[in-house]
Amino acid sequence: MKFLEGKLDDIAAGREAPLSRRDLTDILESGPGIDGPLFRAASAVLGRNSGPGVYLRGIIEISNACQKNCFYCRLRRDNPGVARYRMNSREVMEALTHGWNAGLRSFLLQSGERLGGDFIEEVCAILAECRSRWGDSVRMVLSLGELPADVLDRLREAGGSRYLLRIETSDRGLYDRVHPCDGIHDWSARDACLRHLRATGWQTGSGVLIGFPWQTASVLAGDLEYLVDLDIDMCGMGPWIEHKDTPLDKVREQAPPRARRVSLTLRMIALLRILMPDINISATTALQTLDEEGLEKGLEAGGNVFMPNLTPPGYRADYNLYEGKTAVADDLESMITEGRKRCESVRRLLVLGDPGDPLHYGRRLATEGWMSGGAAPGDAIGGRG
Ligand code: SAM
Ligand code: SF4
Repeated sequence: MKFLEGKLDDIAAGREAPLSRRDLTDILESGPGIDGPLFRAASAVLGRNSGPGVYLRGIIEISNACQKNCFYCRLRRDNPGVARYRMNSREVMEALTHGWNAGLRSFLLQSGERLGGDFIEEVCAILAECRSRWGDSVRMVLSLGELPADVLDRLREAGGSRYLLRIETSDRGLYDRVHPCDGIHDWSARDACLRHLRATGWQTGSGVLIGFPWQTASVLAGDLEYLVDLDIDMCGMGPWIEHKDTPLDKVREQAPPRARRVSLTLRMIALLRILMPDINISATTALQTLDEEGLEKGLEAGGNVFMPNLTPPGYRADYNLYEGKTAVADDLESMITEGRKRCESVRRLLVLGDPGDPLHYGRRLATEGWMSGGAAPGDAIGGRG
């Protein structure tokens, strides 16, 4: 413990102190005494690299229909208790415009995984409309599940600049325990999809679920190493939360208690911040669901993004993935005012009017030579606009 605290103090002071897989595991398993040194080190790293800014990403949950059957998610295909919906383009554009008028410059369109019909064409048309209205001043983020490479390429062409796809867990055996083995839930395909995104110029986001049954600290340490190896630009990782209509709920007693899931999530954020100083990391909705002060704690652990929900009130309850996710409609202006106060309470600064590109992305574009080949719109590099 003293040895780990010493290393964390070195990191806080800006001295080299690499963390091994063993160190990561031990920190995740340590008693509460480790939290002070850990969060101090993460904040110091954040302060030296990305600064005090907190960026907003407005989330719009455009459809809850899904072809998959993940054992942890209420939206899974075989759950008959979900009223499926798909927002139309007008509704999506209205939500985006509302966010734009309030100063948001980054928007996440999220949905279940759906390939049929004209869904992708409609998303492409929305992206094109955003590009024509707002040009390069906005970043359109997509989280539509694992899509074929040619579809991802079309979405990028149409104006998508960031993509979020959690690997959920880096451990293939564990992945198979929380997904059906039916050919469409394949860890290698998910990993390949992430690597395709990373190689084709997307700002690439990933992350994991934390604290679900059978997961160990050593698996979580492996998750951190996986995210570093993938060299992501953004991360969203949050605690697993039960829902009675999911198969994983049947073994809920095998998961750590909720308070432990919160603590593990905060430690994962802090460790990732230390390992990847210049990426964007969000304080997720799930973290805020399990802890009223999840936003403040997530920022203090090293997060620098949070996501106001712009989904129209009438659809929100149908996008509940887990128990307790807020279905109440908050108005955006009060969410921003409240968010600003909460950021300031932990000495952070809420930033409006800036898409908040991860510095990591600009740096990797430069080193990979993308700029010499000509960057696509939405690939602004070298800072925060
Ligand atoms: N369908 C897309 C996908 O899976 O990538 C995007 C939408 S999906 C609802 C977004 C994330 O929700 C998943 O990556 C998963 O980690 C998270 N999620 C699903 N069920 C959850 C639960 N019970 N507790 C916490 N997070 C959950
Ligand atoms: Fe579908 Fe995503 Fe839920 Fe899995 S996590 S069932 S892919 S919405």
